Parts: sequence; structure tokens; C-alpha cells
Amino acid sequence: MPLVLGSVALVLGAATAWLSISWLRTTRRSAEQLRVMNSRLERADATVASLAGLEARSATVEAAVQAVPLGVIVTDDGGRELFRNDAAARLLGDRPADALASSAVAETMAAAAAGRARERPLDVLGPPRRTLSLSGVPLPGGAAAVIVEDVSERRRLEAVRRDFVANVSHELKTPVAALGLLAETLASEEDLAVVRRLVGRMQDEAFRVNHIIDDLLDLSRLEGEPMAPHEPVPVEAVVGEAVEHVRPAADFRGIRIVADAISRSWNVIGDRRQLLSALANLLENAVKYSGDGSDVSVRARTDGTTIALEVEDRGIGIPSRELDRIFERFYRVDRGRGRGTGGTGLGLSIVRHVATNHGGEVRVSSVEGEGSVFTLLLPAQPGLVGLVAEAG
Ligand code: ADP
Repeated sequence: MPLVLGSVALVLGAATAWLSISWLRTTRRSAEQLRVMNSRLERADATVASLAGLEARSATVEAAVQAVPLGVIVTDDGGRELFRNDAAARLLGDRPADALASSAVAETMAAAAAGRARERPLDVLGPPRRTLSLSGVPLPGGAAAVIVEDVSERRRLEAVRRDFVANVSHELKTPVAALGLLAETLASEEDLAVVRRLVGRMQDEAFRVNHIIDDLLDLSRLEGEPMAPHEPVPVEAVVGEAVEHVRPAADFRGIRIVADAISRSWNVIGDRRQLLSALANLLENAVKYSGDGSDVSVRARTDGTTIALEVEDRGIGIPSRELDRIFERFYRVDRGRGRGTGGTGLGLSIVRHVATNHGGEVRVSSVEGEGSVFTLLLPAQPGLVGLVAEAG
């Protein structure tokens, strides 16, 4: 019996030892597995965190690209569209008429995907009619982008600048060429009476060049200072000064300038020099385009917030079809009548600039053969007294 018990004890002891060793091994393996799992979990965590970071960053970049006023379209390496911002959708449109725009984008994109950066203009018939510029941009890994820009305004300004330079050159060329010709004739002229006449004509041409340059300088100053300084300018004083400025030319032709009495308390808010220039230009025109011996009137009215300065003549008038264009730079109703009167075609552009710089406007009503009324509407100084003109 004791032998049996001893054997059983021995077997149990061996089994326990084996179990312990095996348990130890299992525990070690499990710990190892746990460690591996743990590190995998940590890596997965990091990946999830970096994916979330990437998503947040891509949302930020997308919001930034949405805010850009340029159209942006991006495709992947297989030519599939990944992104198109709102500006691209707006500029290119989605009507059937915009099929031309779509195929131009596709061509530019295909060239960019093949590594060729290209820029091409695209006229969109609209409405509104626009000129777009498409730029293809190759991106890494065969992806590509097309940037769409609306260049209509830039093109329009370039055309205005080109016209302006051409007009200035033309306007200056004529009197300068005349001066050259007169000087040449003068060089071989001995008759004193003829010499005097030629010198007189040279003075006229030099005066004309000077006048054009003065008007151009005025215009460029007005464009350079878009907002007129805000100070009270007495209307009565400015009207008086403008009338004195044109009086010699009016007297010479027997034209009477009738200025209504203007209240001394009426002030316009703005810039005295600009207002004087506008009013003098209107009065010069009224005199220039009136017959000898006629009347030109200047009046002021107010409704308490706006002061209206009116210059009326009984001259040749302006055909109604021309009324929209007379405020354009260098525009003359009839080049012939402009030249004869020494006009530059810039006077009314100056007047319109002054009006807009003051937050006001200039209006015209005219009947051909009967005369014209130009009205300059300007902001009155607040608290103006006397709604009708009273003797100053
Ligand atoms: P200009 O120096 O030729 O007078 P403006 O810009 O002052 O240039 O005027 C543009 C054109 O408008 C003039 O050439 C003229 O044909 C017409 N015009 C302007 N004011 C008058 C007016 N009071 N009566 C008739 N025509 C006018």
C-alpha cells in the first residue's frame, strides 16, 4: 500500500511539474502574443489618428481652394475627376451651350496629364459674354489640374488702354505735325505779313498741344485720387470763379453769361479744385458750342441733400443718339466741329470723373439746333438752409 501511494505521489508530482512547465510556457507565449497584439493595436491607432489628421488637412485645403476666385479642377492618374470647386462650376457653367468649354477643359487636362503645361483662351458666349483663360498644370504621379480664370475685365482694360494710347498719339500728332510744317514754311518766308500769319497759327497749334496735355494731366490726377476730399465748398464762390475763367472767351464772341444769384450759405461737400474744373469745362463747352451773341445761364438748386448746378446754352445742341457717348474720353460728336473750336474731347470725361468722385452724377438734355442743359448733381453740406436760391 505504501508503495502504491508512493507511486501515485510520484506520478502526481511529475504531472504537476509538467503542468507547471506547460502553463509557464503558455503564459509566456500569451504574453508574447499580447505584446504583438498590443503593438499592432498601437500602430492601427496611429494610422487612424494620421488618417483623421489627413482628412482634416484635406478639408482645410479644400475650403481654401473653394475660397480662391479661380476655377480649379483636379483629375487622378486615370483621368477621373477628383475635385471641382464652385468657381469652376460657375465659370464653365453646365448648359449645353457650354459643351465647348467642357471640351476645351478636357483637352487642356489631357495635355497636363501627359506632362505638358498649357495656357489657352476661351470665349464663352454667355450671357454674360466672357473671356476665360485655361491653364493646365501637370501634377505628380500622372494627376493633373486645370485652373480657370475670368480675364474679361483685364482684356477690357487692356483694350481701353490701347485705345487711349492710340487716341492720345493721334490727338498730339496732328498739331505737332502742323507745327513742323509751319516752321518749315516759315524758314523760307520773307514776306513779313505771311510770317506773322504763320507765327499766329503756330501759337494756336502750340496752345492746342498745351490744352490736350493739361486735360490729360487733369484726368490722370482725377483717376489717381478716386475719392474727393470732404470739405464744405461754397457754391457761390466756385460758380463765380468758373464764370470769370470763361468770361474772356465769351466776351470775345459777344456771349452773355447770366449767373443766377446763389445763396452764400450753400456748400457742396467735396474738393474745390475738382469742382471748379468740372464747372469751368461745362461753361467752356456752353460758350464754344453757342452762336456769337447768345446767352449762357448758370443756376443752382437744392432739395436739401443734393445741390444741382445747371449750365444751359442756346447753341448747336447734341443729336440724341450721341448723348450716351459724349462723356467718353476723346469722343466728339463731330470731329470737324470739335477741331474748329479747339476741343480735346476730354472735357466731359473730366466732368463725369469729378461727379463720380463726389458720389454725384452729371446729366444732359439737349435738342439739336436749340441748345443743351448740363446738370451736375453733388452732395450738399448737411443742414443746408434755404431750398430756393436767394440773393447772396
Ligand atoms: P471737347 O473738348 O471736344 O468739347 P468734350 O468732352 O467737352 O470735348 O465734349 C465732347 C463732345 O460733346 C464735344 O466734342 C461736342 O461735340 C459735344 N458737346 C459738349 N458740350 C456741348 C454743348 N454744350 N453743346 C453742344 N455740344 C456739346
